[in-house]
Amino acid sequence: MNVISKINDLRVTIDHLKNTGKTIGFVPTMGFLHEGHLTLAKEARTNNEVVVMSIFVNPLQFGPNEDFDRYPRDVERDTELARMSGVDILFIPDVADMYPGKQSITMNVEERVDVLCGRKREGHFDGVVTVLTKLFHLVQPTRAYFGQKDAQQVAVVEGLVSDYFFPIEIIRVPTVREEDGLAKSSRNVYLSQDERQVAPFLYESLQEARKRIEEGERSPSFLTGMISKIIQENTSGTIDYVEVYSYPELRELKRLEGDIIIAVAVQFQQARLIDNIIISVQPEEDYYV
Ligand code: AMP
Repeated sequence: MNVISKINDLRVTIDHLKNTGKTIGFVPTMGFLHEGHLTLAKEARTNNEVVVMSIFVNPLQFGPNEDFDRYPRDVERDTELARMSGVDILFIPDVADMYPGKQSITMNVEERVDVLCGRKREGHFDGVVTVLTKLFHLVQPTRAYFGQKDAQQVAVVEGLVSDYFFPIEIIRVPTVREEDGLAKSSRNVYLSQDERQVAPFLYESLQEARKRIEEGERSPSFLTGMISKIIQENTSGTIDYVEVYSYPELRELKRLEGDIIIAVAVQFQQARLIDNIIISVQPEEDYYV
């Protein structure tokens, strides 16, 4: 595995790969790797000749009161894990190289951001698309891999790639979970023992919603109410949001139909956890607006 920190070194390496016609699978991450990230890498490994992973804690996507400074980092361990997962090129740039000065052009995401994390984390997705635009230009991937755990991110990135004609296929990979259902996340290390015990109720509440939908429930407000109740009654966390939308458009629905996302965000003492499910809902036979 080739570990690269300098932009120019990456350019030279990528130029060579492009000249030889290799397909490139790209996995952008913020590091502190876990099985979720490694599953994306394995997926990339299966379908591309070369796998590039980046590790970059992007300051632009953190708000002033968010956890940029204390975001967990362990480059040595990450390097070993990336190597074991079949990554060919691990790109770990410095903030000063990615953002050498004030940006002369800034990016604003206009669609799919007035809901879910976008509403709560102002400017977050502007930072995400800014760094991804830089990384996409540098890595020139054939395919880029993103986790469904950050489903709004996938929806926004699909918009980026489509609006700006990036010749990149975006692959959404299902959320990887702990045995008890908790979505794997770098931030899980910040849960206290008690919080860790009750954190699986996020996914459990989503599973309960799935069950109700299978039984015929089609009311978004009934489901969000039920999910909120389960989380409130069983965890010490504070609900940030429980929302239901069409996916990937992220539009409000009066009744559930088509591809939908049910998403939750819960603030614990030191960690904010998110989770979601995406379901294809059959239209109601006897329901007319
Ligand atoms: P991050 O390092 O948190 O920015 O995540 C990097 C990529 O890994 C993103 O595309 C995430 O959606 C994805 N990812 C993070 N956690 C998981 C998970 N539990 N399952 C699948 N993908 C994940």
